[in-house]
Amino acid sequence: MNATPTHAHSHTPTFCTIVPPHILDKVSRNEDQSLAEPARRTLERDAAQRTRRRLLTVSAVRPMATGAPSDQAKRTIYDAKHHEDLPGKKVRGEGEKASKDQTVNRAYDGLGATFELYLKAYNRHSIDDSGLPLIASVHYSQDYNNAFWNGEQMVFGDGDGQIFLDFTLPVDVIGHELTHGVTASTANLEYFSQSGALNESISDVFGSLVKQYALQQTADQADWLIGAGLLAPRVQGVALRSMKAPGTAYDDDVLGKDPQPATMAGYVRTGQDNGGVHINSGIPNHAFYLAAAAIGGHAWEGAGQVWYDVLTGGTLSPRADFAEFAQLTVAAAKSRYGDGAEHDAVLKAWSQVGVPVNDPVAAASGADVPRQNPVPEGAQPPVQG
Ligand SMILES: [Zn+2]
Repeated sequence: MNATPTHAHSHTPTFCTIVPPHILDKVSRNEDQSLAEPARRTLERDAAQRTRRRLLTVSAVRPMATGAPSDQAKRTIYDAKHHEDLPGKKVRGEGEKASKDQTVNRAYDGLGATFELYLKAYNRHSIDDSGLPLIASVHYSQDYNNAFWNGEQMVFGDGDGQIFLDFTLPVDVIGHELTHGVTASTANLEYFSQSGALNESISDVFGSLVKQYALQQTADQADWLIGAGLLAPRVQGVALRSMKAPGTAYDDDVLGKDPQPATMAGYVRTGQDNGGVHINSGIPNHAFYLAAAAIGGHAWEGAGQVWYDVLTGGTLSPRADFAEFAQLTVAAAKSRYGDGAEHDAVLKAWSQVGVPVNDPVAAASGADVPRQNPVPEGAQPPVQG
């Protein structure tokens, strides 16, 4: 492919670290060097990984799948032993007995929980639906405050213990990162601006569903948090993000305040973080929560099924904005469930977050769909910093 990019962001590959750069930036400027230094080093490592990812736009050649993919995950966990060379030393393969190291076991179980949700709820065989082996390295680098999927494997830091704890602790973080692989192999939403925020949101949605499925929780039992248990005790906060109440996950003297908006009224225009992909994801996150809460029961059914249908249905464009995604979810709800509770819930959820869908059924029945000024199509956010 020799296509010349027409926009600076045209070929921005997804490289998501679960702790977004805006949080680490803030911590790295703290006057307490024992807090600032690990954040600074983490940002340096992340920048190096991001560059590497940009150079590796074509995934490694994978062996051709022969026959139907297995219903059994193929997991391998490595120990990076606090170095940066990946993957490190192999410490646990599929079906092997548990390690003495609980970090190894949590990574193994989290990969398994993600594999299980996709298989049992959506009949999807691993990330690529062809049984892709799942690989993870734990104990990456020193005091490393992050976790990521690099297109080939998961990588987990131990955290610095002051702001962040072991990144294998929240299973939704593992589900979030692996879902970036699912998105890359399906709708391949461009990692910039609204399509990037949708990419992020889809990872939060299915990350949360991995946890809900593992715990067999209903929508009203779930915490709807991303990264619960990850913040060290000294931090004023409960998680990295809240889908139920975006903007309320933390409010801390070191981390700052959770900047996520819940509705379009709070949409943040920024050039940082690929156009605020980890910030504006609060809006579609909240729409999913509202739809799932209104439908009730297990969120991986109903709302989860609708979102999965849109992600994998082949009609979602790589540069979709919120409005296009919303429209497709309403259509998918109708096509799978008819004009029932699911359709009404999805339609209403988008309206509540300020992304109203012009639905012929709603119009005919006189439903109150508020009209708001949409964000200009393809608007370039002002570049800051
Ligand atoms: Zn992400």
